[in-house]
Amino acid sequence: MPVEPYDAGYMEEHKIKHLSFHAYLRKLDTQTNRQSTINTSFIPPLEAPDYRVKTDCKGGHAPWPAGICTKCQPTAITLQLQQFRNVDHVEFSDASLIDNFINFWRATGAQRLGYLYGRYEPYTEVPLGIKAVVEAIYEPPQEGEIDGLTLGLPWDAEGAVDHVALLCGMQRVGVIYTDLTDDGTGLGTVLGKRHADSYFLSSLETCFSAEMQRRHENSSRFSSTGKFGSKFVTCVVSGNVEGGIDVQAYQVSNNAMAMVEADIIEPSVEPGTMRVKDETATRYVPDVFYKYKNKYGVNVQENAKPCFPVEYLLVTLTHGFPSNPNPLFRAKSRFAIENRMGMQTQDLQAVGRVLSNEADLVDNLGDFHLIAFLAQQSMLAEDELALLAKAATSHQMEDVYALVEQPGWQTLMTIVKETANDAPMATASAGGSASGSANVSGIATPSERACPHCTFVNGGNASSCEMCGLPLDS
Ligand code: ZN
Repeated sequence: MPVEPYDAGYMEEHKIKHLSFHAYLRKLDTQTNRQSTINTSFIPPLEAPDYRVKTDCKGGHAPWPAGICTKCQPTAITLQLQQFRNVDHVEFSDASLIDNFINFWRATGAQRLGYLYGRYEPYTEVPLGIKAVVEAIYEPPQEGEIDGLTLGLPWDAEGAVDHVALLCGMQRVGVIYTDLTDDGTGLGTVLGKRHADSYFLSSLETCFSAEMQRRHENSSRFSSTGKFGSKFVTCVVSGNVEGGIDVQAYQVSNNAMAMVEADIIEPSVEPGTMRVKDETATRYVPDVFYKYKNKYGVNVQENAKPCFPVEYLLVTLTHGFPSNPNPLFRAKSRFAIENRMGMQTQDLQAVGRVLSNEADLVDNLGDFHLIAFLAQQSMLAEDELALLAKAATSHQMEDVYALVEQPGWQTLMTIVKETANDAPMATASAGGSASGSANVSGIATPSERACPHCTFVNGGNASSCEMCGLPLDS
């Protein structure tokens, strides 16, 4: 007999902490539907937690908040480590994705957030596992600070970015952000703030992830509500205990999503502690408990009001890079990254630098930042956008030929060429003059040099670009 994918011995032996979603589902389905020899109707084995007061109560009282009864009030919540995870692993298709992302912090000292675009695939390292494969990191408008960042600025391009991602076979699979602080040793090492004795995800971040997951709910026909959990992941780039820069991947539990939805938890000033909100006339808060083993190895149940450790809501994922990288986007010359104001500029002149002739197309079109920018120019018809996405991801000459024959593309390239001719050339020669910095973000003094690939202004002694890593003289 083959072992079941949820076999406890196998999990223990392979050091797998959480069951994969499909192994968990099979376990519940066996218990719910397959143990009975009588062929009864199918019962959905999954139930997403819901801690809101039911609004359609038949208890014969005025609806909440005017009335409540035992039928419509949520049951007590007992928090335990979630047995399973909706996603097991995060795979970054290429190490340069992380490197280019961290470069923002390296250059400015401010923290940065990006959305992860990619797809979900089977993950064979755990039974019936799922991995999120990340192919691009898109940085939405934001304000970065030394100790954090603020989202919520208008993001007009959001629809266009999601749409072109979809044409490339991708969706938003998660979020990544930095929490990096130079440790002051001058060795390039950073502070290791997140560990077993402090916290992994702060209570504020846990609420943020719960909200993100709520916006990306998973559909499941095995759930009584048709919805169950989320496959949206959260990655944090921070210092490890050795002072190195590391990525950690998490999800928050289905309980965390439900508690945020019911508005019964909030972050506390202590990052490792979550607060249970106070009950009000319109907010019903059920009893919340958490269980742990005390120093005598005895299971103890503790009241979680007013506070409880945030770990009860976390699910840890593994992450890594493929041994044989085969990224979807393979541009040789990188286009500027969006929303990096005062550092990199996305404009038609920058497009001209990476797509100056037709031979560049097959080499340089494969860049999500570039095609997302082109998609926002609203010069390409829907079928032309699809051809653009195809040429950018297939790296086939025939797909490039199909694209360059399109009238919308030809118009776009004509405008790109005219823009390039109108602008003074950027000088990149050693000891060059101060002229020709019109298409460079920031003001390049004679001792500074603008990168011909990404427009980042480098110090005079640099031979390769601090931002994109490419040589300044090419
Ligand atoms: Zn009721």
